[in-house]
Amino acid sequence: MFTIGRHCEQCKKFSEIELKDVSLLSCPHCSVHWGEVKTINEILQNCPVCGCRQFYQQKDFNQGVGCLIMLVGIGLVPWTYGLSLPVFSLIDWLIYRKIPSMAVCYRCGAEFKGFDPSSLKSFKHHIGLKYDKFRT
Ligand SMILES: [Zn+2]
Ligand SMILES: [Zn+2]
Repeated sequence: MFTIGRHCEQCKKFSEIELKDVSLLSCPHCSVHWGEVKTINEILQNCPVCGCRQFYQQKDFNQGVGCLIMLVGIGLVPWTYGLSLPVFSLIDWLIYRKIPSMAVCYRCGAEFKGFDPSSLKSFKHHIGLKYDKFRT
């Protein structure tokens, strides 16, 4: 299943929609028009929302969960003589490895899931800076 998720500029809600072969994208909350997907295979060459050609890959992972795991590990240190730290960082790493990556548009921040983002690089700060002015 391919999905696109983004913050709607009109209603400010984050929504995710499933992409079918050809689809007009519109916000499920306020139905404002987002863009159009012509070919799903080419979606990572040309963002259907803003037309941007640059994407980065990012783990579809809630950073808070990772922090929470580490906090539990740190909290257990007095009882485990510090052993909880390597154990919990291992758990953290194992979970992280299993999480699929998603592709994110540099310009509008739209998130694309279900695609193979292996050809994409992770976020580059100098490229991100170029697009800062387009993001809110
Ligand atoms: Zn909306
Ligand atoms: Zn975009």
